[in-house]
Amino acid sequence: MSRPGDWIRPEVQALSAYHVPEVGEVVKLDAMENPYTWPDEDIRAEWSACLAGIGVNRYPDPRASEVAARLREHTALPGDQGLLLGNGSDELIQLVTLALARPGAKVLAPEPTFVMYRMIATFCGLEFVGVPLKADFGLDMPALEAAIDEHDPAVIWLAWPNNPTGNAWPRTDVLRVADVARGLVVVDEAYQPFARDSFISELGERDNLLVLRTLSKLGLAGLRLGFLAGPPAWLAEIDKLRLPYNINALTQAGVAFALDHFERLERQAAEIRRERDALAAKLATLPGVKVYPSAANFVLLRVPQGLARTLFEGLLADGILIKCLDGTHPALTDCLRITVGTPPENALLAEALQRRLREVA
Ligand code: PMP
Repeated sequence: MSRPGDWIRPEVQALSAYHVPEVGEVVKLDAMENPYTWPDEDIRAEWSACLAGIGVNRYPDPRASEVAARLREHTALPGDQGLLLGNGSDELIQLVTLALARPGAKVLAPEPTFVMYRMIATFCGLEFVGVPLKADFGLDMPALEAAIDEHDPAVIWLAWPNNPTGNAWPRTDVLRVADVARGLVVVDEAYQPFARDSFISELGERDNLLVLRTLSKLGLAGLRLGFLAGPPAWLAEIDKLRLPYNINALTQAGVAFALDHFERLERQAAEIRRERDALAAKLATLPGVKVYPSAANFVLLRVPQGLARTLFEGLLADGILIKCLDGTHPALTDCLRITVGTPPENALLAEALQRRLREVA
């Protein structure tokens, strides 16, 4: 008899698959998606025509050259810096980790943070070192510097703003990390459209600093496009691990189309930023609820002790899906993460949470 347990690597067996709940029709406020799709009839017709014109019988451009050139211009990438495109930014996290997976190599990140840094390190066979954030989710610089000194990590991931805490650490701290580290430091700017700040202009000043971005949070999560920018010598090595046609033809055309209409996505991001601030202010008035400052498109809450899961389930019964973080990391006990939705969705959520809190009080 052939059993997976006899053959699959033990560290893979010990992992749980990245869990995406299957929940039918709900108000979906769990995954940091933009709640808006292409707004107007006219643009949807144009979008359909654009996709209908693609010959899917042919392999796509293996380097997605047009999209890459457009993104370089769009992000004002310094001319001497390289760009590598991924099937979502999580593919790029995987490629970087795989490229660095020498025996004994380590991956480091402050925690709590995006769980895929740890998960990918584990399945690529690298040791993951998590350095706890301070109680206010700030970077603990002495602890971080000591850990860098002790472990000499091959890569350090800094989600900026951080998921799931929502804060963006001081720029001076981030640059200090790059200055003291010998290995790569990747600033993951997944939430850049909501923070509106970036390290792209710093690229080239240090030979170990890279910036990771995605179009997912801006409204194109379904297209799967991420990009990694930084010194070409690093990217050339990482590129060797990329499968040849990782950016499919529909994605290439879709991203080019989106960049042609970028002002619409930017208007939506501005609306989400306004709604985030209004939602955070509203939730902060609920009894016993602490709202953490957010520069992203979600807010992190700490609810009264022991109630996070009950509230999460109550909201789900009301048809609203958020993310329960209680139990995922000691610093996130009693925490819930809510992605900013449309104004009616946010009102529904705030009203339901208020009602559920009253029930359990
Ligand atoms: N980085 C961070 C910090 C994230 O929170 C996420 C998504 N939750 C990603 C990367 C991955 O995004 P994608 O693969 O959709 O580009």
